[in-house]
Amino acid sequence: MSRVQVDRERCVGSGVCESLAPDVFEIDDEGVLQVHREEPAADDLDGVRDAVQSCPARALALAE
Ligand code: SF4
Repeated sequence: MSRVQVDRERCVGSGVCESLAPDVFEIDDEGVLQVHREEPAADDLDGVRDAVQSCPARALALAE
């Protein structure tokens, strides 16, 4: 099972991850990243991989 890892010291709340994998990531009303599925569904993995690559703060990883 793949697991999302977030380095919260690095995350700047840009929301790029939410735009690429909205079922997994959400920026809440306070600008804090919420991870709804730490173990993403298979259908969400491509979006999560894109988010890992695209995160401007390099705050995301996917342990596979
Ligand atoms: S893309 Fe990166 S910096 Fe932006 S909210 Fe997601 S984890 Fe945080």
